[in-house]
Amino acid sequence: MELDEIVVLNKERMTLTDAVQRNILRDLGERAPECGGVLGVDRNGTVSAWYFDITGKTSSNSYRPDVNTINRVLSEEWQRVGIYMAGIVHSHAAGKRVPSCGDIQYGIRILKALDTVDAFYLPILEISPSGPTLFCHVLSQNPGGKYLCRRIAYSVAMRTSRNDDLTTISNIHF
Ligand SMILES: [Zn+2]
Repeated sequence: MELDEIVVLNKERMTLTDAVQRNILRDLGERAPECGGVLGVDRNGTVSAWYFDITGKTSSNSYRPDVNTINRVLSEEWQRVGIYMAGIVHSHAAGKRVPSCGDIQYGIRILKALDTVDAFYLPILEISPSGPTLFCHVLSQNPGGKYLCRRIAYSVAMRTSRNDDLTTISNIHF
């Protein structure tokens, strides 16, 4: 990958476009838990791309990405338009709003392998009878090199047609 410098992610608040939010809710919100997909950011660190990993492995209590297919999407579709993998969203059953230990360990392995971002988003979409709800988390390294996974806020933005400016269209969610 040819990048002068890595994309610095906002570790206090994830910003995603309304289109990505809609697609996550469409692809994961209507399915049983433990489905997932990949988040892509632009150079500004805004989550503006989504790939639903329909061929990923799911079971009653875990989701494992289809790494080969995702790598192909990254290299053949995202890299050439300046989009970089920056997270994985997957769905959990009601009441499980935080990534499991296995989720975090898997995320650390991906973050170590990526040389394009300085952190990794691990949002969980909780599937509950009242509807799906997104709970955002970020995986990053502290100055001592230790990996931390923290709950963060997110906000939804819409790209205006004339330029690349993003207009925030929602208040901050926690
Ligand atoms: Zn999980």
